[in-house]
This record gives sequence, structure tokens and C-alpha cells, in this order.
Amino acid sequence: MESTLKRTWAEIDLDALAYNYEVLCRRMGPASRLMGVVKADAYGHGAVEVSRTLEELGAAYLAVSSVDEARELRGAGIRLPILQLGMTPVEQTDQLLAHQVTQAVWSEDAALAFSRAAEELGGRLTVHIKLDTGMSRLGFPCDEGRFEASREAVRRACALPGLAAEGIFTHFAVSDEDGEDSRGYTLLQYRRFDGMVRALEAEGVRFTLRHCANSGAAVGYPQLGRDLFRPGIVSYGIGHQAGLLGLRPVMALKTVIGTVRELPADTSVSYGRTYLTRQPTRAGVLPIGYADGLHRTLSNRWRVWTPCGTAPILGRICMDMCMVDLTGLPQVREGDEVEVYGPHNSVNEAAGLAGTIAYELTCAVSKRVPRVYRRNGREIARELLLRT
Ligand SMILES: *Cc1c(COP(=O)(O)O)cnc(C)c1O
Repeated sequence: MESTLKRTWAEIDLDALAYNYEVLCRRMGPASRLMGVVKADAYGHGAVEVSRTLEELGAAYLAVSSVDEARELRGAGIRLPILQLGMTPVEQTDQLLAHQVTQAVWSEDAALAFSRAAEELGGRLTVHIKLDTGMSRLGFPCDEGRFEASREAVRRACALPGLAAEGIFTHFAVSDEDGEDSRGYTLLQYRRFDGMVRALEAEGVRFTLRHCANSGAAVGYPQLGRDLFRPGIVSYGIGHQAGLLGLRPVMALKTVIGTVRELPADTSVSYGRTYLTRQPTRAGVLPIGYADGLHRTLSNRWRVWTPCGTAPILGRICMDMCMVDLTGLPQVREGDEVEVYGPHNSVNEAAGLAGTIAYELTCAVSKRVPRVYRRNGREIARELLLRT
């Protein structure tokens, strides 16, 4: 790993994570506790260290998207309750029970299948009922036409043997978008959620943990925090809304100037010859490419940050390398560190130029990029996910 650290690495600032946690908790108030969304290896930040930090900070729950992700956390000694937000094949009910993972239940059929499996295994599976209030992904539909049927179905599901219905939740589709339409839709989704929870409670079906607020809602609708709120992207200090709360980016993706080349005018650079030097050019070759997660659509568009200024990417990004223009930065030398994304070079802007969202760029930081974790200003751990 020492050698790969001189190549490309991701610094994970756990102090920034702690700062973001405090800001978000203060915003939501003491009645709403944080469920840390650590799916997809904590959006590329490293689920184990992020979860450890959230556990220490006092988070109430964690959320993942597969049983394997939950097992990884249990294997690392994480004790917090974990919710599997996605669809688990019923054959993995034994693992849910063995690792004490709470399962989202997205339909009556799913409830029946988990109930039977848990009974056969002699266990009791903790579940959170998922309501579809307008995302059309998973959940008991809560639109006006299907409300009554779903209320009955949830009531039956909660009474099944082998299941312990601890929570109920929904997910917003446009809570992070401005405009009256989006606002109206988010509030409609909330009314459906709240209406269903109240209707069930009126019949004596009660849930300890009711939750709906993702990042967009935590920023735009803090009044919708219920027992838990579930921020992902903003807790990592990224996404277009993180700046509104002054949150700090947790990841800095860094690489080095591998070598420096002098290129004459009219020289083409990289595959496809999409860039032609206009003048004698001092070019840096960087050991980072799309296989590290630097999206190829950023070719000729993005730049890296150096303390002396920014250096634009020249030509196509290759699998393992890319070239940058150092002509105006004579102080930048071979071996110097540069920031690809991070506090000085916003991944949000890169995402805009790549035609995607910041989520996709941090999730894409690949397993050959070591993560270096810093806490209280010091390095506390390193991880390389290659099978070495
Ligand atoms: C991913 C996810 C979240 C977190 O979303 P962000 O936009 O990152 O805050 C919350 N809830 C569910 C159900 C999710 O799938």
C-alpha cells in the first residue's frame, strides 16, 4: 500500500464528517435522530470507518443496500442497528437474523415470504414497512386510489408471525429540487406518509421509528424530521445543497504529478487526438484515470487543483492516466500532490460538467484507490480494497 499511496489516494476527513453530523443534528432538533446512510461503501468514503465514526458520535441507526454490506459492518464490530433499505432475496433471511439486520418490507408478498422464512428458522425478523408515496420504486402504494387497500395490507403484514414491525418509512423523489412543483410534490408525499401512519395508529398499529427525511428534506424541510432522518449525500458534505448549510466535503481525491513533459506547439495529446497544443506546452502526466473513478466524460473539461493554481486536463482521460497543462504553473514539479476533487476542487462542479451528480463520482472511486482516514487532524487508518 505504501507504493499505491504515492499514486492516487482518497483522504477521508472524519472531522468533517463529525462537523456535518453536528450541523445536521442541530438542524433537525433533538426529537429526530440520525440514521447514517452508508450504502455503496458510504458513497465511496469507506463504510467501516464512516460507520465507526457515526457510532461514536451517537447516531441511532445505519442504512445499507445489501446483506453483504451489513455483514461487512458486523464483521468490523459495528453494533448499531442496521436497516437494509433494498430488496433482500428471501433465501438470505438467515443472514438477516444472524447479523441482526432490520429489513425493509416493500409489499405484502415480501412480508409473507419473510414471515414464513423467519418462522422456519425459529427467529423474529425486525422490519420497517416501506411506503410508496410517490417514488414508484418500492413500497405499499399510498396514492388516494390505493390507500385503503394498502392500509389493510400493512395491518395484516404487521400482524404476521416471525416479524417485529419496528418502523415505517418513505422516500422523497424531489425534496432536493427548487420550485413550486417540487415543493408541492414533496408535501403531497409527506401528507400521504403521515396520513397512512395516523390511519394505522388509529387502529392500534404503532411504530417506534417513523422516518422520511433524506438529505433534500434535511436541508429544505427540517420540520419533516420524525423519529429518524436519513441523510446520505449531505453528510459527506457534497451535493448541490451541502453548501447551503456550510457542510464540509469529507473526501479529497488526490494524485501526484507523475512526470513532466515539454510538448512542442501543434502536438496532439492522448487517444483520439482531441487536444492539440497551441503553443509549447509543459504537460504533467498523472497516475489517475477512469479506472480509478475519474469519469472519462471529464476529458478536456475538468482540472486538478494545485496550491499554485489549477491545471486543466488535456485530451482524453485514459484508463490509468491523464495529462494536465502546467504551462502557467512553473513552480509545480514532479512528485507534487494535486487535488482531483475535494475542498478546493468541488466534485459538484465536476459532476455538472460530466452530466451527472456528485453521488456517482464519489461512488466511482475504485477499489485500487486506497482510503486514508484522518481524525483530529491525524491519520488513524488506511485501507486498500484490492485482493492483495
Ligand atoms: C440512498 C437513500 C437515502 C439517502 O439519500 P441522500 O439523497 O443521499 O440523502 C435515504 N433513504 C433511502 C431509502 C435511500 O435509498
